[in-house]
Amino acid sequence: MRYSGLRVFTQGLTGNTGWAPVWRDPQPKDEYDIVLIGGGGHGLSTAYYLAKNHGLTNIAVLEKGYLGGGNVGRNTTIVRANYFLPGNSEFYSHSLKLWEGLEADLNFNVMHSQRGLINLFHSDGQRDAFARRGNAMVNQGDDAILLDREGVRKHLPYLDFEQTRFPIFGGLLHPRGGTARHDAVAWGYARGADARGVDLLQNCEVTGIRIEGGRVRGVSTTRGEIRAKKVGMVVAGRSGQVAALAGMRLPIESHILQAFVTEGLKPVIDHVVSFGMGHFYISQSDKGGLVFGGDLDFYSSYAARGNLPMVEHVMEAGMTLMPMIGKARVLRSWGGIMDMSPDGSPIIDRTPVEGLFLNCGWNYGGFKAVPGSGWAFAHLIATGEPHETAARYRLDRFRDGVGIMDEEGTGAQHNLH
Ligand SMILES: Cc1cc2nc3c(=O)[nH]c(=O)nc-3n(C[C@H](O)[C@H](O)[C@H](O)COP(=O)(O)OP(=O)(O)OC[C@H]3O[C@@H](n4cnc5c(N)ncnc54)[C@H](O)[C@@H]3O)c2cc1C
Repeated sequence: MRYSGLRVFTQGLTGNTGWAPVWRDPQPKDEYDIVLIGGGGHGLSTAYYLAKNHGLTNIAVLEKGYLGGGNVGRNTTIVRANYFLPGNSEFYSHSLKLWEGLEADLNFNVMHSQRGLINLFHSDGQRDAFARRGNAMVNQGDDAILLDREGVRKHLPYLDFEQTRFPIFGGLLHPRGGTARHDAVAWGYARGADARGVDLLQNCEVTGIRIEGGRVRGVSTTRGEIRAKKVGMVVAGRSGQVAALAGMRLPIESHILQAFVTEGLKPVIDHVVSFGMGHFYISQSDKGGLVFGGDLDFYSSYAARGNLPMVEHVMEAGMTLMPMIGKARVLRSWGGIMDMSPDGSPIIDRTPVEGLFLNCGWNYGGFKAVPGSGWAFAHLIATGEPHETAARYRLDRFRDGVGIMDEEGTGAQHNLH
């Protein structure tokens, strides 16, 4: 079913009785050409691009819960292409271009809003680092504008420019940065993949990966055994656990990241604002809620909820920056399980097992990567060769140290900065 304004109008006149389910609920088949473990943003976009770009449709996405119930539906929805290092820069640039055509491509409203992202800086040193980053963005073909203090004031007059704890020196504006509705992205890709014949199997947890003669043969699941010629592991925060089913130990730690939403307010924050001295970022959803977050809870965990010290830290950072938000009431908060890699950059690669592929290490930034990652992972699975935008996302860089992409410059302790 094609969605359009006219269809919404006519359905409104006829009691909304004509809508079809957005995807099927099929029974698992005994065998698929390709099985993708994980029905998050990356698993669903991979399935979509395998079908659309490579004409492969004998595919199943296996999701242990419900589609979009993981990090893809739990993030703070920021979409940007402001990376610095070669390798990351072209990947995220490509992903943002895919975002810009995504709604037309999927015929689905993912509410992508390019409202502009402003990263604040608070010292001369930070200004120089952001100037270099802005130059790298422009060289990549993306957009960046360095703002001084008065330039920031014009865009964000509600910031506290008088406080001296974190003095605002200026900001880096990325006009094409913004937000999208997170779970709609999962639904849009799910709908597109299903329409091309991909089986989306919910409540289907993978409990084993069958390997014979160094080659993957299939998976064991809570809905039975499924044979497969190729298997992709795309399970974000659960990557360590699922890779262990194949006898692999990954250079990934799972950490909690929390998010917060206030009651709905009239429009007050037009941009995405990121506070560069502590760790705080905020935007306002179309429904009016202020959506914000901060840093990781500093311990490894598989619990999708966080703890009070980080709540306090995030609230303090927000209040320092924009005291007006103290009047808003926080309605809800939650946590997601982040797949943290040692250098802060992801992995899209083959594994030592023939036919078994790995996509993980998205740290706190994998939502914006959903289109680019699916595109590149589909290319790798279909052709056996890395896509040019993701060629540096090799697994073995953590074995030999060659090709490490330490985007944040935090060294080998990326998770503890
Ligand atoms: C609070 C928070 C804020 C964030 N903010 C941003 C942001 O502003 N911008 C940004 O770019 N990124 C952000 N991120 C990061 C981003 O959400 C993630 O990097 C990204 O969603 C991870 O990829 P995914 O969507 O495929 O993961 P998920 O949605 O977690 O998908 C993985 C799926 O695998 C399933 N699974 C796990 N084990 C199994 C198994 N054994 N069998 C079958 N299925 C299994 C899970 O149930 C899950 O549905 C944020 C994350 C959080 C938690």
